Amino acid sequence: MTITKATLDAFIDDHLNEQDSIRVEKAVRESPELHTLLKSIVASRDIGDHSIGAIWRREHLSCPTREELSSYKEEALDTQRIDYIKFHLEIVGCNACQANLLDLNSAKGPKANPAAREKHRQFLENSKLLLPKKQ
Ligand SMILES: [Zn+2]
Repeated sequence: MTITKATLDAFIDDHLNEQDSIRVEKAVRESPELHTLLKSIVASRDIGDHSIGAIWRREHLSCPTREELSSYKEEALDTQRIDYIKFHLEIVGCNACQANLLDLNSAKGPKANPAAREKHRQFLENSKLLLPKKQ
């Protein structure tokens, strides 16, 4: 599989099938050049939307943790935090957190749903690629 800019675009947009997505993910991990290219594509996509809100969403800075979402579901948080998470889910409409909550709400949890678990794992792995490397 030759990885071109178009392949990386499809990867970012989540348009690759699972196997290709895994191949690209592995290749990006192993190749500093591809990692740089991926980051530059993401950066160029971000040009034009430098609003604080966009940066906030992109970096998931305002996202509650999965544990918090779980507590939210149980209403085991203080009112302010519950209001905030409700706002984040319903008004901001954060896709990542909505997916996380859906997953938590699925009757038997993520372990009973391999597709959801795999999607969640991919999401986390792909997110890691975009984080700055630890020194
Ligand atoms: Zn979120």
